[in-house]
Amino acid sequence: MTIQQNFVNGRFVESAGSDLIDVFNPARDTRISQVPDTSAEGVSAAVDAARRAQRDWERLPAIQRAGFLREISARIRDNAEEIARVISEEQGKILPLARVEAAFTADYIDYMAEWARRIEGEILQSDRPGENIFLFRQPVGVVAGILPWNFPFFLIARKMAPALITGNTIVIKPSEETPNNAALFARLVTETGLPQGVFNIVYGRGGTTGRALTQHPDVRMVSFTGSVETGSKIMADAATNITKVNLELGGKAPAIVTADADLDLAARAITQSRTLNTGQVCNAAERVYVDRRVADEFTDKLVKAMDAVRYGDPLGNDEIDMGPIINRAGVEKIDALVRSAIDSGAQPALGGNVADLGVGNHYKPTVLVNCRQDMDIISRETFGPVLPLVEVDGLDEAITYANDTSYGLTSSIYTTNVGSTMRACNELRFGETYVNRENFEAMQGFHAGRGKSGIGGADGKHGLYEYTETHICYVQN
Ligand code: NAD
Repeated sequence: MTIQQNFVNGRFVESAGSDLIDVFNPARDTRISQVPDTSAEGVSAAVDAARRAQRDWERLPAIQRAGFLREISARIRDNAEEIARVISEEQGKILPLARVEAAFTADYIDYMAEWARRIEGEILQSDRPGENIFLFRQPVGVVAGILPWNFPFFLIARKMAPALITGNTIVIKPSEETPNNAALFARLVTETGLPQGVFNIVYGRGGTTGRALTQHPDVRMVSFTGSVETGSKIMADAATNITKVNLELGGKAPAIVTADADLDLAARAITQSRTLNTGQVCNAAERVYVDRRVADEFTDKLVKAMDAVRYGDPLGNDEIDMGPIINRAGVEKIDALVRSAIDSGAQPALGGNVADLGVGNHYKPTVLVNCRQDMDIISRETFGPVLPLVEVDGLDEAITYANDTSYGLTSSIYTTNVGSTMRACNELRFGETYVNRENFEAMQGFHAGRGKSGIGGADGKHGLYEYTETHICYVQN
């Protein structure tokens, strides 16, 4: 049984005195490794290493920092197949998607490395004679990256690459569900000559290791991706030391299907979105508002598309579209929301219950019709392959219902009408809107949630500058 070791100051180290956490393959219910539940002492060792490395790393020209990032991305490409298998085994993603995750991670690191020559300050006009005003962008300091399990390998890079290129150092805490891919990431980092302490990993549960990181006085920024509930706790803990937070939280993305939409395209795209990674994607369509005039026709197409989705064990079968749900609790949460919707009058047009394959955590692709805005399944994140449909009388009602949420991450609309497109762009209150397609976001975009979906954002120039602080200097000559 592999016991993963923390990666601190460029070395794999024992986390003395820590309890061990079991890691499972969610398709087979088998234990595949263990990780330490790192104590506050172990966390301090990692933060100290990052703090000590900070000064020299920050002084290195950004183009040299970019060189290290490119060495990491090259090794990711060389080891992509092994990475994909590790992700698939512990997270349950199908292999083709795990390969995309590995490739996208390498591209993302390269993209952030490209910023080396483009991180800019400003020179401002002064009101005083003989004075210059300079705005510098400087690193925040030690960053803690706290991760979920759904895109575990990519999310290491989404925190690490912008943090490092702007001169910060980082301590990553992977999800306790998916630590093995992070251990592989660390192994690749050791082959690059990245200075010790610049990149560190500590394993453990949120309540122990995660909290110790967030509350550590030398951590100057917590970059978190995960649930709203945890984001709220992190914000409260970060408040103790006035630590900067960047929060990428959950979503309840609406998809609007108008009467003039290409219904085949809409059915196909919404199905792909909701079943990608078995529905465990923060910005995938979670509720559908379909114009009453085309509701029957669209429902037929959607049911057909969802019914064609095959599922099973991703490492035993190349012919499937979805793997398992991450754990039993995830399946139970999905099923409770579906049961409650059915009890309140929704009807399953497809699926509607747990799939029993004898082993693993599976849920049947599900389409629920006759849903209403006041149902929990319309307001709470299911994170599974479930599509609830609400019929609406036109675009006004669709936009009103779409905006009636505490979340605000992503939204989509299917229409062939320019006016409807522009209304959606102007009136939907979300960080992202997709027109005639579903997620994924682009690395040069800005992935940011409104409302309870988060604070700040990731990707592109705006995401990069989240990892900097401004310093204004007034120079009187
Ligand atoms: P989670 O909130 O349960 O856990 C995320 C991480 O936080 C884990 O590493 C966990 O150990 C840690 N954690 C838990 N409690 C903590 C605490 N008190 N202090 C510090 N750390 C703590 O989320 P999850 O189940 O791993 O991931 C699924 C969620 O993530 C979904 O809600 C999904 O929408 C969201 N998500 C959002 C985005 C985005 O970009 N907005 C991307 C992916 C996933």
